[in-house]
Amino acid sequence: MSETAMNKLAVVTGASKGIGKACALELARRGYDIAVNYRSDEDSAARTVAEIEALGQKAVAYRADTADIGAVKQMFRSIVKEMGTPDVLVNNAGIVDDAYLLLINEQSLDRSLNVNIKGYINCAQQAALKMYSRKKGVIINISSVSSVLAVAGQTVYSATKGAVNSMTSVMAKELAPKGIRVNAVAPGFIDTEMMKSIPDDLKTQYLAEIPLSRFGDAAEVGKVVAALCSEDFAYLTGQTLILDGGLSL
Ligand code: NAP
Repeated sequence: MSETAMNKLAVVTGASKGIGKACALELARRGYDIAVNYRSDEDSAARTVAEIEALGQKAVAYRADTADIGAVKQMFRSIVKEMGTPDVLVNNAGIVDDAYLLLINEQSLDRSLNVNIKGYINCAQQAALKMYSRKKGVIINISSVSSVLAVAGQTVYSATKGAVNSMTSVMAKELAPKGIRVNAVAPGFIDTEMMKSIPDDLKTQYLAEIPLSRFGDAAEVGKVVAALCSEDFAYLTGQTLILDGGLSL
């Protein structure tokens, strides 16, 4: 297929559910085909693919642990072969495993660092390599309000999301000459499976601290991410946009 005849293509990591799925669906509504990355939940990934296809776009599910550079390289090779060169990467696949400082165990620490930091770098590197040749592309890194807000029990998670903000500005500087923009979106509390790990009494407490008096919806994150990918934001790079209903104010 000639390049001009092809749809725009977005790779969304962790798109089997939650924020990643919402980003994938919103980008599909805006005309993108979607490479749907996931780690373990094949059924949910297949549902995401079906919902994208129902919007009239092409979608293929790719199972890969983003923390595993070999698996990520293989995934991007397959994506280019089967779907084309990515125009957009949404680096979203992330985990949370909260523990107070004195209770953090090494295995959990390593896993969080590997998925939330190494995984983002692995995918950005492979996407940028493919985008280089066309001298254009957009990378959106999903951070968290926890990168700027101290929440007890989140030493590890906050550190990984602070790293996402930092890597976003450095990647943006390095990749700008290649026509690739890099920004981060840092959501506050968004009602997804990830939030199920928060005890109800804590949720009530957090809710009282949000000026807009509600948790966010994944679709709202998807809309902001898709907007940042558009030409309307062609002059924006290296920034972290906090999307938290005012929680961090
Ligand atoms: P979620 O509902 O738990 O979904 C996580 C997704 O990431 C799933 O699709 C999962 O795939 C995938 N995933 C996890 N580890 C992976 C890995 N190593 N390789 C590939 N895929 C992997 O989470 P979410 O709430 O949508 O969060 C998505 C992102 O938003 C994360 O980076 C999170 O830190 C950030 N965030 C969330 C909130 C919130 O309140 N929910 C707030 C701020 C930031 P499988 O299910 O197939 O394993």
